[in-house]
Amino acid sequence: MMTLEPPQRILMGPGPSNVDYRVYRALTTPIVGHMDPEFMKIMDGVEARLRSVFRTANAVTIPVSGTGSAGMEAALVNFLEPGDLALICTGGVFADRMCDIVERAGARLIKVAAEWGRAVDPDEVQAALREAPGAVKLLAVVHGETSTGVLQPLEPLGRLAREAGALFVVDAVATLAGAPLDVDALAIDFCYSGSQKCLSCPPGLAPITLSARANEVVCSRRTKVQSWYLDLSMVEKYWGRERTYHHTAPISMIYAFDEALRLVLEEGLEARWERHARNMAALLAGLEALGLQSLPPASVRMPTLAAVLTPQGVDDAAIRSRLLSRYNIEIAGGLGKFRGKLWRIGLMGNSCTECNVLLVLAALETLLDEQGVIKAEGKGVAAAQRAYAAKPQAGRSAQTP
Ligand SMILES: *Cc1c(COP(=O)(O)O)cnc(C)c1O
Repeated sequence: MMTLEPPQRILMGPGPSNVDYRVYRALTTPIVGHMDPEFMKIMDGVEARLRSVFRTANAVTIPVSGTGSAGMEAALVNFLEPGDLALICTGGVFADRMCDIVERAGARLIKVAAEWGRAVDPDEVQAALREAPGAVKLLAVVHGETSTGVLQPLEPLGRLAREAGALFVVDAVATLAGAPLDVDALAIDFCYSGSQKCLSCPPGLAPITLSARANEVVCSRRTKVQSWYLDLSMVEKYWGRERTYHHTAPISMIYAFDEALRLVLEEGLEARWERHARNMAALLAGLEALGLQSLPPASVRMPTLAAVLTPQGVDDAAIRSRLLSRYNIEIAGGLGKFRGKLWRIGLMGNSCTECNVLLVLAALETLLDEQGVIKAEGKGVAAAQRAYAAKPQAGRSAQTP
């Protein structure tokens, strides 16, 4: 029988990102039982490291089994009971999913929508809160909306949530360990992420953290959480002090996740944020020099994902499939109303390197020149090189994927 041999891609989409060899090595270390005292020690380490990455002192700071969406679902189904009122700030696919979950949970929804490619306006959120004084239980927002490339400023929304007495829920799936985020300074009540984006671990875990206030809300529900698997009052009994069995922990994933967290902390959160900002600035300089236009305005662009409009007349599907087949580079197209109209180029975690920025620009230029609609002629790479020369890298040399 043939062995399994997937290609080694350069992953520059909205996740998964490339995985460090140390994380792969952790995946291959021997399984122990999920109640083994040695595994309990590993769990303690994971929780402590995760608190550092979230910048929080929250006791309940754990990786939930499942991908980022499990974090989203856990947030909403644990806080919301039938009839509760939730305010969702939306301007893209991922926040729209939150609205869907709110409705499935039998809660009532207030939707404050921004045009896709724009941040949600805090004044509109404030106006919506004033229409339902004291009634909104939870205000949720996506920090980095991967479908549009918008980085939502969190501070004003956090303040409004606090003033309204609502829990402040933040989706940091595409930003944790890639963009500045401080859970305690922002007084976020529930923050969730995914293992395969800026943390550069394979997909399969949703790190979450919840404030003491949020934990109280979960523990004082009138009704049972309709999801048995994601009921945090039970999941917490395994991860927290009791350490009683709920479901079998995905042991190998926890090993990998632990190693990925160690890598983040060895680099340093701030150095990591800086690396993402610097490489994104160079990528955007290159894309702009090719005449490609960013969807979000400069003030609200994610440092972990560029979203640029596909130029008129250029064959989107052909470019992306050739990037993959000829250059081994994965980027993504648009979602929802931007299907066929947007390129989403991720610089997340280990995929966020100067090498990859120059490579994707050179590959794109070659393919654009071949299609003949845009004359790239090396302008993108040159602009990125100038950006790097103007802001040389501090310290560490670039990591290879
Ligand atoms: C990827 C992503 C998700 C969903 O995560 P999965 O791991 O695919 O379940 C949710 N929110 C945002 C902002 C994302 O980028």
